Amino acid sequence: MIPVYVSDVVIVGAGLAGLAAARELTKAGKKVTVLTKLHPLRSHSGAAQGGINAALADDDDVELHMFDTVKGSDYLADQDAVELMCSKAPETIRWIERMGAVFSRKEDGRIAQRPFGGQSRPRACFAKDRTGLTLLQTIYEQCVRENVLMLDEWYVGDLLYENGKAYGVVAYNIRDLTPAIFNAKAVMFATGGYARAFKINSNAHANTGDGLSILARRGLPLEDMEFVQFHPTGLAGSGILMSEAARGEGGRLYNSKGERFMEKYAPEKMELAPRDVVSRAIMKEIIEGRGAKEDPFAVYLDLTHLGEKKINERLPELRDLALTFLGRDMVKEPILISATAHYSMGGIPVDINGHVRKNPNELTQGLYAAGECACVSVHGANRLGANSLLEALFYGRWTGANILKDLDNLDLKEAKNEDAQKLLDEINTILNNNGNERVSNIREELQETMSTKVGVFREEKTMIEAREKLLELRERFKNIKLDDKSNAYNTDLQEAIELGHMLDYALFIVEGAINRKESRGAHFREDYPKRDDENFLKHTFAYLNENKIDIEYSDVKITKFEPQERKY
Ligand SMILES: Cc1cc2nc3c(=O)[nH]c(=O)nc-3n(C[C@H](O)[C@H](O)[C@H](O)COP(=O)(O)OP(=O)(O)OC[C@H]3O[C@@H](n4cnc5c(N)ncnc54)[C@H](O)[C@@H]3O)c2cc1C
Repeated sequence: MIPVYVSDVVIVGAGLAGLAAARELTKAGKKVTVLTKLHPLRSHSGAAQGGINAALADDDDVELHMFDTVKGSDYLADQDAVELMCSKAPETIRWIERMGAVFSRKEDGRIAQRPFGGQSRPRACFAKDRTGLTLLQTIYEQCVRENVLMLDEWYVGDLLYENGKAYGVVAYNIRDLTPAIFNAKAVMFATGGYARAFKINSNAHANTGDGLSILARRGLPLEDMEFVQFHPTGLAGSGILMSEAARGEGGRLYNSKGERFMEKYAPEKMELAPRDVVSRAIMKEIIEGRGAKEDPFAVYLDLTHLGEKKINERLPELRDLALTFLGRDMVKEPILISATAHYSMGGIPVDINGHVRKNPNELTQGLYAAGECACVSVHGANRLGANSLLEALFYGRWTGANILKDLDNLDLKEAKNEDAQKLLDEINTILNNNGNERVSNIREELQETMSTKVGVFREEKTMIEAREKLLELRERFKNIKLDDKSNAYNTDLQEAIELGHMLDYALFIVEGAINRKESRGAHFREDYPKRDDENFLKHTFAYLNENKIDIEYSDVKITKFEPQERKY
């Protein structure tokens, strides 16, 4: 017998989005279970450095925040969702602050705000360069205070879903492989991002996009998966993030000739142009042979002129990371950086209230998503820095509040023991397989393929090669063999399951990118270098059909801002 635990709501993921929703629901007296494969405080939200946006300053306003976000998105964001998020941003900051988040301050005591790429005003509130950790600790403490049931080291592997209705998830305890069914009236996914499919990336090891393919395997669509953000400044070699705060505080980019090359690419905004623009500029310098003398695959980020005091005050974490992973002290010399896969604009399509879409026109019942795994879509084709902590916190809380409203009208569909079978079969097959392929080899080849063929610059020929490679890797995956067959903390098994998810959602990225024959935001095609609003001012909705991806398109919600050419 497999145990079945019943609650009102099951939330998968304990980052900012999951915990914000869990607190809202538990406080209102609902029985909530949060499942997470990591301890909540190890969620990737805690790694966020730079800041969280809100139009708080006297010379700033919500409409300007909206406009910057829509322009930054290359007009693909849904403007009703952007309006909701930007108008609730100041309240969200006050909410988290009153719960105990300590933000860095100006001399006069008000919350300090730093400039970030693509923003017309300094708008990013921050806690030194440990903003995500501060926010996550705050919301986690509040969840502990409210007695939210958080079960960590539980791996969720399947969704219970029938006839458009979700009624729970199937998971196993990572400690000893015990399976369990978590049956509920409502299920929320808050499983974070998926940049681990790329070789050089800034993401935590856990960011393997499980949530997305769990839904996709149940026939649900994924939206705009081709839009993967490359952050301009990852440490050379490792991709570990040097937050945009580094440029926000005045960091400058140089090539091997000592040229401040952003003058060529974005003369007005310079280093503070949006991420897609700066990443392409860096890669262009590298490809054309002007990479750093010490490392031709990197350029210089110079912060020395800021001085030790300011660096220690504003960027202590970055200084530490660069020292540890690059052996360079940013106080004394420029550091070496290059573009790194960072953020996923696409994800599980949801309406403005967090309901998962079954297709562009229909909603599912009892199924919700928020945070980086969701696509609402506030970031469209390119996210502006410091907008995603806001998205996770605001839409997490908002979705929690909407679940609360819906609960009275949702009834509990009882789960049966057989419901666990699909995940049990998956685990058994992987454990008992006796092939000759290694999980780590397949993962490396996948990451290499995605980085080199579906990266900052894309074109049809190489992307078709990537698709073929993915199909080959999917075949080879059936033939893997694990060394560890035990049931105690079997990380081999978990990595294999995660690789299966990566192989699924990578196919969505490639297919979406092949079909989008234009350049928009983070998706840049050498063979179609122009944005094409006539044919592609549309969201991609894609469905997994065994080894094939079926694609349809849906309209973008345009309310206030008509698309214009995007210049910085
Ligand atoms: C290095 C770095 C710096 C960043 N800096 C900023 C910044 O300064 N400003 C900004 O706005 N944004 C920033 N971002 C982006 C931002 O941090 C994230 O988009 C956001 O925190 C995501 O929150 P989340 O709650 O959606 O997911 P996460 O915090 O990633 O949490 C995901 C949760 O899902 C759980 N989970 C996943 N799969 C499973 C499974 N199969 N079973 C059980 N549990 C599962 C995990 O255990 C985890 O608890 C940064 C991102 C990175 C990588």
